[in-house]
Amino acid sequence: MANDLAKVAKDRGIKYFLISYVDLFGSLRAKLVPAQAIGEMQKAGAGFAGFATWLDMTPADPDLFAVPDPLSLIQLPWKPEIGWLASDLVMNDELVPQAPRNVLKNTMMGADSIGYQMKTGVECEYFLITPDGSGISDAADNATKPCYDQSALMRRFDVISEISDAMLALGWGCYQNDHEDANGQFEMNWSYDDALITADRHVFFKYMVKSIAEKHGLRATFMPKPFIDLTGSGCHMHTSLWQGEDNVFADPNGELGLSQLGYHFIGGLIHSADAICAITNPTVNSYKRINAPRTVSGATWAPNTVTYTGNNRTHMIRIPDAGRFEFRLADGAANPYLLPAAVLAAGLDGVQNQRDPGKRLDINMYTDGHRVRGAKRLPLNLLDALRALSRSNVLRAALGAPLVDGFLKLKGEEWNAYARHLTQWERDNTLDI
Ligand SMILES: [Mg+2]
Repeated sequence: MANDLAKVAKDRGIKYFLISYVDLFGSLRAKLVPAQAIGEMQKAGAGFAGFATWLDMTPADPDLFAVPDPLSLIQLPWKPEIGWLASDLVMNDELVPQAPRNVLKNTMMGADSIGYQMKTGVECEYFLITPDGSGISDAADNATKPCYDQSALMRRFDVISEISDAMLALGWGCYQNDHEDANGQFEMNWSYDDALITADRHVFFKYMVKSIAEKHGLRATFMPKPFIDLTGSGCHMHTSLWQGEDNVFADPNGELGLSQLGYHFIGGLIHSADAICAITNPTVNSYKRINAPRTVSGATWAPNTVTYTGNNRTHMIRIPDAGRFEFRLADGAANPYLLPAAVLAAGLDGVQNQRDPGKRLDINMYTDGHRVRGAKRLPLNLLDALRALSRSNVLRAALGAPLVDGFLKLKGEEWNAYARHLTQWERDNTLDI
């Protein structure tokens, strides 16, 4: 049987498995399990103490088990004797309702029950920085407009090509790699697929980029805004909804080739945008990427308003082509499972309630946004976004109270820790007051 991991280990020369899961903060956790022990572990799962990670559990809770999904198996391209597995979290023989992968699967099952499958493709931007995190790793990468800089890209060929080759060998369909709009920033693109497949790959991509960068004496970061004057790292998500082989967002007679159903889906995202923001932009730092002043390159490329447009990169949602849209709000800190879950939840609410996305705006939102009346602004900080999430009946109903309440509790504590932290800015501006 293809899904028998003990047999797969023998056939493919796997000596160890990483049985992994992603917690609410997007941290990747794992146990390294010898192939000899995988038979039992595949059935029962690997045991963890849930409170020790960000899952809103207590030290008194029983064992948490990560039950590996054999379909997610990836042999580490740089160490093929290790097989990586995504897992579903179980406690007391029941799926843990706030575990991010379970939340995405539940949301997708809800969509499936009314006949829809979501497909996604993510654009994960990241920086290659020095191991101590103090700056970008290439001192010569200092152009004012560094996007697509061939020399800066090729000085990192050893790292970029190793990651690109790995994606090709894994069958992800990697089709382009580039230097992005900030000094030291890169992006690599692979084909879109079913939302769960993309989410598992998104998790693995971040791990792979960090691992291969480390191998080359560098450090990779997906932090949304690591350098205040440079463009931040987004995680744009291209989205479409399918019924079998049919893309139901596609309509040759619709505006820009998008169906009425697609516009209702966008209407749902616009309706819930401030609440979604807590999930797709989940750190204090996230809010230094959106609503940000112009960077030295000339634009932040990040949205400030809850608006949509055609092929124009200054809004939250861009319709670049027929049959899909690009959600430009999310950043590099977004949880790979909760990002598509939140988008699907809000979008389906739009479909089911036929939400009107309002008027499409074909203007440069950075320069002419002030002329638009009534366009909602994005939350200015994490606390405002968390408060919006706490008010969202749409996300609570679709993602479940355990996820929303657990997320709000842990992120609320994180906000409080930040607020108690004394910054240099305060000393600079208040010491002599
Ligand atoms: Mg990009």
